[in-house]
Amino acid sequence: MNYQTILQEAGILAHPARSGGIEARTPIDGSVLAQLPIENTESVAAKIQAASQAFLAWRAVPAPLRGELLRRFAERVRQEKPALGRLISLEAGKILSEGLGEVQEVIDICDFAVGLSRQLYGLTIASERPGHHLLERWHPLGPVGVITAFNFPMAVWTWNAALALVCGNTVLWKPSEKTMLCALALHRLLDEQIAKFPAAPPAVSQLLVGRRAVGEQLVDHSALPLISATGSTAMGRALGPRVAARFGRTLLELGGNNAAIVAPTADIHLSLRAIVFAAAGTAGQRCTSLRRLIVHRSLSARLSPLLRKAYASLPIGSPLEPGTLVGPLIDASAFERMQSALGAARAAGATVVGGERVRPAGLDGGYYVRPALVEADKPFAMMSEETFAPILYAVPYESFDAALAMQNDVRQGLSSAIFTNDMREAETFLSATGSDCGIANVNTGPSGAEIGGAFGGEKETGGGRESGSDSWKAYMRRQTQTVNYSTQMPLAQGVQFPVD
Ligand code: NAD
Repeated sequence: MNYQTILQEAGILAHPARSGGIEARTPIDGSVLAQLPIENTESVAAKIQAASQAFLAWRAVPAPLRGELLRRFAERVRQEKPALGRLISLEAGKILSEGLGEVQEVIDICDFAVGLSRQLYGLTIASERPGHHLLERWHPLGPVGVITAFNFPMAVWTWNAALALVCGNTVLWKPSEKTMLCALALHRLLDEQIAKFPAAPPAVSQLLVGRRAVGEQLVDHSALPLISATGSTAMGRALGPRVAARFGRTLLELGGNNAAIVAPTADIHLSLRAIVFAAAGTAGQRCTSLRRLIVHRSLSARLSPLLRKAYASLPIGSPLEPGTLVGPLIDASAFERMQSALGAARAAGATVVGGERVRPAGLDGGYYVRPALVEADKPFAMMSEETFAPILYAVPYESFDAALAMQNDVRQGLSSAIFTNDMREAETFLSATGSDCGIANVNTGPSGAEIGGAFGGEKETGGGRESGSDSWKAYMRRQTQTVNYSTQMPLAQGVQFPVD
């Protein structure tokens, strides 16, 4: 299928190539797909103003009715799933099954939000005063700014927007400048449903195409009580203090540096499958990609050849071709960062297998690499960094405590895994003295989360939680309420203040 057909089927022909603006490219061969106009300072300000106005109406719409908008949107996404999946492959470079999986995630979180729209529960709390009623209620927060990364160009926005919308907020989405077409195609489906939904003001959700400056305008605007930002730790470090300076809230989903421990009792074949998907899948461009493998020394000699063989046989090529398992890196700078990390590994004395550029026929402008396996006898400085590319560092360990210490000894804290059949090791890994990450898995890899659980990580990953469980609370304001239904006026803590 040619690129124009993919764009057409995803309904984005309304944005053909034109001069000026910002180029949308495909990492498959580096060609330009479209040239899009971008927001300017005035248009962003107007959209923020519209979102603030829309909030005044949307917050008063009953939550289950707000959920109905998401239900209709999800129905449309279901119908368009193949077209949207192909567009993700075209613009973000994910293999088709992962593109479709991402669209499924969009549908799943909308379904979750529909149920949630009838479950935004508060608490009643025992009051110390007679004839008093103490409550906790959750109210909509306001317009929410959502800034997203290139590698989940549809799902991450929906994790945020689906919850934010049922919670009664309006949404302003600044997608990555590398995946704007995915944003346009997905938001178009929501716009369609908003237009047919009398309870929804047109500005209930808006898309803002642009570069970092557009994100910065959202970050600095006092009308936005919450900025949810997904991307690199460098981005979070720049943005967090700016939002804090105006006493706004942030929900930060930043870089990871995820490890897996392979213990002596691990099922080696199960572990191998999980490791290769987590490390080489999505060309190593997931925040939860496996980057560090901590292998019990007794297993290293057995696991290493299996990994090398699996890596050597991975089909690399266009993500649109059936059978491909490793697509391209997003762009040339991702390739350069990978090569520089591998150079640092070699300089530290590690053995590097793979990592070289691969040139599939006819796709010369794309940056394809053989996923790299880097073996070392102990951790070295480069292993502490997140390089957003398929590099798997493998180091041996002697004792379980040492393995745990190595797993936790990085600045990031997103996802983690252990492969073991030893119940004590598994339970320790999941306990307060085990993994320090937001996600901890046993006998499955660190990547590939389900939407039912809260998603996010600790330390330099930013501490935010979105998606399932009670993450919705981040998109609401909590109000504690006291009602006196007696004829007396008792004060809390027995304080006396007699007034005649
Ligand atoms: P990036 O940080 O380069 O960009 C992310 C977004 O932030 C883009 O929309 C960009 O325009 C915007 N941005 C950058 N600087 C900004 C600033 N100062 N103010 C406002 N907006 C700004 O990230 P990327 O290369 O698109 O994505 C890869 C990174 O994202 C990796 O580090 C990965 O681990 C991380 N990521 C994290 C999660 C998670 O849930 N923890 C999920 C996906 C990706």
